[in-house]
Amino acid sequence: MQNDNLGEFGDMPNEEFRRVGYELVDWIAGYFEHLEDFPVISQVKPGWLKENLPFAPPENGESFDVILADVTNLILPAVTHWNHPSFHGLFSTSTSSVGVFGEMLTAAFDMKGMLWRTAPASTELEDVVLDWLRQMLDLPEHFEGIIYDTASVSTMHAIAAARDRAGLNIREKGMSGRQDLPLLRVYCSEHVHSSIDKAVITLGLGLDSLRKIECNDKFQMIPEKLAEAIEDDVESGQLPICVIPTIGTTSTSSVDPVDAIADICEKFGIWLHVDTAYAGSTAIIPEFREYFKGCERADSIVVNPHKWLFTPFDLSVLYCKDLSRLKDAFSLVPEYLKTADDPGVKNGMDYGIQLGRRFRALKFWFVIRYFGREGMVARLREHCRLARLFATWVEASPDFELMAPVPFGLVCFRVCPSGVDDLNSLNEQIMNDINASGEAYLSHTKLNGKFTLRLSVGSIRVQERHLSKVWDILNRMLTRN
Ligand code: PLP
Repeated sequence: MQNDNLGEFGDMPNEEFRRVGYELVDWIAGYFEHLEDFPVISQVKPGWLKENLPFAPPENGESFDVILADVTNLILPAVTHWNHPSFHGLFSTSTSSVGVFGEMLTAAFDMKGMLWRTAPASTELEDVVLDWLRQMLDLPEHFEGIIYDTASVSTMHAIAAARDRAGLNIREKGMSGRQDLPLLRVYCSEHVHSSIDKAVITLGLGLDSLRKIECNDKFQMIPEKLAEAIEDDVESGQLPICVIPTIGTTSTSSVDPVDAIADICEKFGIWLHVDTAYAGSTAIIPEFREYFKGCERADSIVVNPHKWLFTPFDLSVLYCKDLSRLKDAFSLVPEYLKTADDPGVKNGMDYGIQLGRRFRALKFWFVIRYFGREGMVARLREHCRLARLFATWVEASPDFELMAPVPFGLVCFRVCPSGVDDLNSLNEQIMNDINASGEAYLSHTKLNGKFTLRLSVGSIRVQERHLSKVWDILNRMLTRN
């Protein structure tokens, strides 16, 4: 249907914006209300959406009513519902409604936070909100933060800053064709997230630079093995530049001993970057702070409010002990970006590879203000309680086995009924059947060769009944198999 409201030039008329805007908010409210009526995982086959969309763009503008109808008929069936309370795969992450308002306003302002001048609101709100989060996480005052899109990008910037601090003049001379460079080393555990591997690829350090340290039976990096590896490398003329322990690893949410690792980093003068992308949010819960011991000694820490603080994707925070290290690595001001502003103002473009930066702080500001610290603590605490509750059901059943400790909101387990030889195939089959049913979504990992189911609890809408539902489905499938 042709768009009759569109003039020859200019934007959608304001009256129309108001009308469809109300309609869209109604649509979203209805979507949140009826989330549980949808299959968690989209049931469409690969290629279905493409086949149902026109090959060529419309010649003339279309009415928004028609566009919205296509969202309902075409887009919605192809959505996997991350906001569904039975989304327990990967890490269960979801947005709050108030976070959606933040995204709407951010799009409305459409500011590009390159310089303070181009986005004073974004620049200053980001500082304020990140200092609020710092206080909530109980990090020392010397930590200053910067927002990036994802933890992958936060970590890449942290390693770049570590590389810069090594004083090898890589910023000017690069790394290729240099005989004077030793092999630069980055250390992490064998359970580290693949974003670290990608960061060393991107930065030209290469995968060979990454040394993965052995873990104990709780999937935690063994500090003595780390110290041995560093000593070995130093002895053979290599240069350790960064160690990356994780609090809340992706496979099992295990906790590397950051305090002991910080001792080693201090002894050898190595940058300590802590990946708390998933579990970092729980540092707002006072009784969870013990897991974060040693973080106060880090050079940098990444935490993702888009994972477990009800903020719509994307928003990742990198805290640095000395943010000027990032500036040293990345600041570069061409003539056309010079301003007469006070040289003390913060220009976001100085702290990374991006020039323009989205006004992400706004949505997080909404979330923190709407829920308050206590509201956020209560929700996270409840998620962790639910995960532990599920773990007690697993432990109490002879047909199930807990595969890893449950420090946060992730339960690693498997079915292990007696008399079954191939438990890996059985667990994989059960996971695939649950996911295909659309009733819930679980994901998996492999621990010591054993196919392990992962159930993550983190949706803002999750309740105990959703966990009971998964438990019932699992038991039903077990008797059927
Ligand atoms: N680090 C950890 C421990 C993670 O679990 C993840 C993702 O799950 C990441 C980093 C990467 O997160 P992002 O998608 O924000 O890059």
